[in-house]
Amino acid sequence: AASSQALASAGAESTRRVPERFTRFDAHPGYQQLVMMRQGAKQLGLIDPFFKVHDGLAGATSMIDGQSCINFASYNYLGYSGDPRVIQAACDAASHYGTSVSASRVVSGERPIHGELEQAIASTYGVEDAVVFVSGHATNVSTLGYLLGPKDLVLHDEYIHNSSLVGAQLSGAKRMSFSHNDPDALDALLSRHRHQFERVLVVIEGLYSMDGDIPDLPRFVELKQRHQAWLMVDEAHSFGVMGDTGLGLREHFAVDPTDVDIWMGTMSKTLSGCGGYIAGNKALVETLRHFAPGFLYSVGMPAQVAAPSLKILELMPQETERVVQLQAISRYFLAQAQARGMDTGHSIGSAVVPVIVGSSPLAAHLSHALLEQNINVQPILYPAVPEKSARLRFFLSCEHTKAHIDQTLDALALLLANAKG
Ligand code: PMP
Repeated sequence: AASSQALASAGAESTRRVPERFTRFDAHPGYQQLVMMRQGAKQLGLIDPFFKVHDGLAGATSMIDGQSCINFASYNYLGYSGDPRVIQAACDAASHYGTSVSASRVVSGERPIHGELEQAIASTYGVEDAVVFVSGHATNVSTLGYLLGPKDLVLHDEYIHNSSLVGAQLSGAKRMSFSHNDPDALDALLSRHRHQFERVLVVIEGLYSMDGDIPDLPRFVELKQRHQAWLMVDEAHSFGVMGDTGLGLREHFAVDPTDVDIWMGTMSKTLSGCGGYIAGNKALVETLRHFAPGFLYSVGMPAQVAAPSLKILELMPQETERVVQLQAISRYFLAQAQARGMDTGHSIGSAVVPVIVGSSPLAAHLSHALLEQNINVQPILYPAVPEKSARLRFFLSCEHTKAHIDQTLDALALLLANAKG
């Protein structure tokens, strides 16, 4: 009798009405936010600036809605994404290996090209080993998520990418941020908290993708050594961009590559593919290769995705003029924007230059008006950045010309003057 009573009450529980907001996707806070954003854009007469469809190659120019546009919204920094040699490498790899390795690398998905790519990354960095993941985002999530635990501490720049934040949260470690590019603030946190934790990981980026500025790497190295912490540098945007030959932040600052414990980068920018890597010492890389969930429980990188990055690592040392050109055209952009009185924040003029306009509606309006003149640049709106620093964010490529830049900045200057007047 007792058990039939229990069953009856369980039945009553399951038929009790759950509020609709917990059962409907259109009541989800994310969907509600989307509806509000769309309404706001409609009221302002703006098109949705997201999910614009590009056809063909997204380089310094790109086809959008059948129009050839000058394009500042793709991170094809060294212009390799459309290079015939790189495309051929992808085609050859697909012909040889097929289009999927059809398993995790741990269980029969391993192919020679994986080791070749990882060796090329390790030797490019001058460290012992490297491992590649199928997604840049997953690389950070999995690496931070696996390496750290509840007794550990993650200290990160306040502008760190979402993937590192999510990884830190997943790890269960205590997480604190320090003000952007401020080693003194990090020093204070380390002095106060280092001894309360087991492992401490400091996470910074090589080139910040919203602001186009870089950290003072030698100071971060000095701090991590003094406080016995690990240092991780996310080179998603700095590899191929910083340093005389594009070798990244270590070349720019001439630091010993082994002074950084974890070098992270992505294949989606300079390396014109997809995926991420961790480069460092053997013990780190072997551990990740055997236990990082985003590696272990995910399919191996398809050969046609690995091959372009491998090819580019081979081409880069022979074609350093691309890096020189990217740096020169980026500096030109910065100087020309500043000469027109634009607020470029802290950008150092290396591949990423924001023009801060101070309000999300204005940034969205400017992006829209530029697109009408066949110039594509992404607005960065609140909450991605604080409202007062809403901006247009320009990605440069070595294939941009001075004419592209003059035309764009003249058009933007006029629009800004009209918006003020
Ligand atoms: N780190 C940084 C700094 C990034 O900007 C990004 C994305 N652009 C990622 C990691 C994730 O890389 P991916 O887009 O290749 O997954």
